[in-house]
Amino acid sequence: MSCNYAEGLSPYEHKGKLGLPEFFDDPSTVDEKIEKLAEWIKAAKHVVIHTGAGISTSAGIPDFRGPNGVWTLEEKGEKPKTNISFDLAAPTFTHMALSALIDSGHIKYIVSQNIDGLHLRSGLKRSSISELHGNMFVAQCSYCDRQFIQGSAVPTVGQKEMGLNCPWMKAGGRPCRGKLHDNILDWEHNLPDRDLEMADMHSTLSDLSISLGTTLQIVPAGNLPLRAKRNGGKVVIVNLQQTKHHKKADLVIHLQVDKVLQKLTSILDVRVPPYTPDIDPTRVIKRCVEMGLNPKILDWTIAVSSIKKVKALVAVKKGDKAGDDKKRRNQRKRRRAEEDDSSSDESEIPKPKFTVNDNDVGIGSIQKGQRHSNIIDYNVPLDLTTVVPKERIKTEVLDDANLEQNLCLPTPSTSIATLKDEESKQKLEIL
Ligand SMILES: [Zn+2]
Repeated sequence: MSCNYAEGLSPYEHKGKLGLPEFFDDPSTVDEKIEKLAEWIKAAKHVVIHTGAGISTSAGIPDFRGPNGVWTLEEKGEKPKTNISFDLAAPTFTHMALSALIDSGHIKYIVSQNIDGLHLRSGLKRSSISELHGNMFVAQCSYCDRQFIQGSAVPTVGQKEMGLNCPWMKAGGRPCRGKLHDNILDWEHNLPDRDLEMADMHSTLSDLSISLGTTLQIVPAGNLPLRAKRNGGKVVIVNLQQTKHHKKADLVIHLQVDKVLQKLTSILDVRVPPYTPDIDPTRVIKRCVEMGLNPKILDWTIAVSSIKKVKALVAVKKGDKAGDDKKRRNQRKRRRAEEDDSSSDESEIPKPKFTVNDNDVGIGSIQKGQRHSNIIDYNVPLDLTTVVPKERIKTEVLDDANLEQNLCLPTPSTSIATLKDEESKQKLEIL
């Protein structure tokens, strides 16, 4: 349960502004705003979505700072009345719509603060998302840092050991000696390197950022959407409450995110498939285990090849800017040379003072500040289909009788589920 998640974290006082009032735009205003947003999405080259707890409230998972949020009620000594377990929650319309918009090419990347695993369970591929605060359905190795999808929500938070060996096999068949731990960040933990690097680079590339269901109070996640401004792009915020960056936004929509995504996908003519368990890797693993079958381990580690691809795009972008800077410098030189020539005659015309363009100064300094010092360079490409001997697999099985009935997969004949190459569309096959 998400309350258990909150209770599992260390005590922390500075939780930001809590329980601010919610606003709702009137219907005519909403239509106009979403039409405008659709036009901006069509015109943009690199749309990045930033998601917070507000996109999962319709799944029954409470947010943190809303009027009925976990932290808001905690301050009053209360707990949320609606609070489904992570295992029983299912991806919302918004999760499915975002996955469809990635597939249709309208958006390039999602940066999420959510730990509920619903983006993963919507069928999103790993190269399309950064999970900056962790994922309840992922275990991570303390030694090799690889991440593995679990069939059920992990029982702990705060990166505690789970009592499981890392399933990774090195070339030659020797097992990794690391132990698995949950990958949910506590307040003082560093953000995961690869997720942060990908979020940072995509935000640098973005010319339209859309924040959904977040008050943008947690850093660095809350500040990344503003990067789009530096590219001459736009910042859009969809949230019921005021956010930290409302004043900097080009467009603010006060409406439930599901309603916004319904109208938006309709205008963009993008079909949003309903959630089904057969696109959900956690359900496939769980189902296999329940049937006494041996699931392959599904690696959820961000691939080095994904990072390299985005790095190359960032290099091109910076190269373009460097080229623009050089062009401007040359123009200034030419101007000064012409001015020198004109002043070389006998007339005593004072030389005009050289003024530095604000843009020239800004670009250099901002880019320097964008770099993160804690980037780890991994050199080993990751294999996504490591098979693990059955005796080493210990996956928790829920005893909820309704779950199987509600989330039943087509019955596999003899074998297991496989996650295909991470670079192709994430796809689960029943062999
Ligand atoms: Zn390992």
